[in-house]
Amino acid sequence: MARTSLIRFVDLAAQHEEIRDELQAAVGKVIDSGLFVLGPQVEAFEREFAGYCGVAYGVGTNSGTSALHLALLAAGIGPGDEVVTVSLTFWATVAAILYTGATPVLVDVDPATCNLDPLAFERAITKKTKAVIAVHLYGRCADMDAIADVARKHRLVIVEDAAQAIGSTYNGRSAGSLGDIACFSFYPAKNLGAIGEGGMVATNNRAYADRVRILRDHGSRHKYSHDILGYNYRLEAIQGAALRVKLKRLAAWNEARRELAAEYRRLVKGVALLAKEKHGDENHHIFPVLSAQRDALRQHLSDRGIETGVHYPVPVHLQPAFSLLELERLSLPHTERICNQVLSLPMHPHLTMADIAQVAESIRAFRPSTDL
Ligand SMILES: *Cc1c(COP(=O)(O)O)cnc(C)c1O
Repeated sequence: MARTSLIRFVDLAAQHEEIRDELQAAVGKVIDSGLFVLGPQVEAFEREFAGYCGVAYGVGTNSGTSALHLALLAAGIGPGDEVVTVSLTFWATVAAILYTGATPVLVDVDPATCNLDPLAFERAITKKTKAVIAVHLYGRCADMDAIADVARKHRLVIVEDAAQAIGSTYNGRSAGSLGDIACFSFYPAKNLGAIGEGGMVATNNRAYADRVRILRDHGSRHKYSHDILGYNYRLEAIQGAALRVKLKRLAAWNEARRELAAEYRRLVKGVALLAKEKHGDENHHIFPVLSAQRDALRQHLSDRGIETGVHYPVPVHLQPAFSLLELERLSLPHTERICNQVLSLPMHPHLTMADIAQVAESIRAFRPSTDL
């Protein structure tokens, strides 16, 4: 088959093309101002972002990982505590628990949603459990009503890892407003990406917001006065300014993703799709499919100029750095099967319907080998 143009997994150059002039003007203004760390651009972005998520407070951080770390610290999590979460996530979810000195308790996902199984969550609770991190994987909200029922019964703090879920909704509410405190990432490939690194803590709890604001700036409310041990997790002004430009486009970009995802659903055959999220809108950060011949399919698509991703090839509990912890050896069958079978198709707002048709057509042309 003739190789047509490359279909990219994400395409930040195309995104930049759309907003180049506005982005460069915004960045130029920051350079001229000489105010590079926190400051008015970050404060304005925090307000606009909190408004977008429907929460009272947003506190910018220098990554999604630092947002998770500070959210846990603000909630009082530390050594001796257990925090329940999933193993089917990006490593940072669990690293943040370890940074606090608490113990991560990893449980399996519901295979229908790829998100935290509320029953597995409840079974994992002990006297030491203090919090749960609900990850909204692929931009699909975890089942927050069921998770909240369990968490409230056991008086646990609910942290949302909404790094992938900006703009997703659950029963009419936005990701980031569904628990006690939430974390977002502005890693460039996320739906709302910085021109570098960035993150945000979102919450309706004033005490949590206040604590995170101090912790991100060396435990300081006033320059050179350090009330508690904190970190340098400050968001840069250039990121605040760039993210303000992109936040204005986010709703349109997420809508474009939804239309592309609907076209995938219509055209893709021969692999398993996840059921549409029944509680609300997905932001389609990732469009995953499942295939028992994932690696061969991935190669087949790559040969046809189609980039794909795998989220994630190795679950957290099977990572070398996790085995060093010498925790109980876990078996999480749904998580492990998904990691072996999942393939993320190209998904970004600058794809065309023709691109989607080409991906679907290439998947249909895949002939799984039978000599296994
Ligand atoms: C991206 C991501 C993070 C970490 O964010 P960074 O900004 O890269 O530190 C955490 N959790 C999940 C689920 C993510 O996808």
